[in-house]
Amino acid sequence: MTYVVALTGGIGSGKTTVANRFSERGVPVIDADKIAREVVAPGSAALQQIVAHFGDQALLPEGSLDRRWLRQQIFADPQQKTWLNNLLHPLIQQRTQEMIAAVTTDWCLWVVPLLVENNLHLKADRVLVIDVDEETQISRTMARDRITRQQAEAILISQASRQSRLAVADDIIDNTGGPAEQEQDINRLLRLYPRLASVKKG
Ligand code: ATP
Repeated sequence: MTYVVALTGGIGSGKTTVANRFSERGVPVIDADKIAREVVAPGSAALQQIVAHFGDQALLPEGSLDRRWLRQQIFADPQQKTWLNNLLHPLIQQRTQEMIAAVTTDWCLWVVPLLVENNLHLKADRVLVIDVDEETQISRTMARDRITRQQAEAILISQASRQSRLAVADDIIDNTGGPAEQEQDINRLLRLYPRLASVKKG
């Protein structure tokens, strides 16, 4: 089984940017958000179950899941949130395991924005946290998504704290610097992870 490095970080910390750099260097990247969207794609059994449970309001006119509507429903009602999690988490978990099992290299990256929130660090061999201070998170998110400070802060507050992410980190990339510093960290980890993978293999 391949050695799994979970990559996480708060909103706007640079997860996608860093994961892309690893991918360009040939590292397989498994994206938890992508899997979460796949399992509720049009035609999926999970989407049918969601519609049976919540009604047609859960669908956009073209037949895909109205994620925004669903988010509002579960935000307002913890029981509905539990119902949805009970449906989706096992499916996401199963698909993730399949994708990990299909990896043919010694190690891979598993990008999981809500790693800490969902206690998923226990499922990885190693945790890499992309870290920037909160002010940097807010300003980069505002610039990227063209949203207000208030909107960016609201998302930040809804996520796990910087401290709780750092508490589960094995490795940290400080992403406040520019591309040159990022490159140095990535090079260091590209040397480290194959070694750790071979130790695990024995
Ligand atoms: P989200 O959780 O919202 O998906 P993310 O953690 O994947 O965000 P990115 O989208 O990779 O974050 O980065 C957020 C923004 O910051 C992007 O516009 C990106 O181009 C920029 N960015 C990433 N790293 C750096 C850096 N080292 N210096 C300056 N800007 C950066």
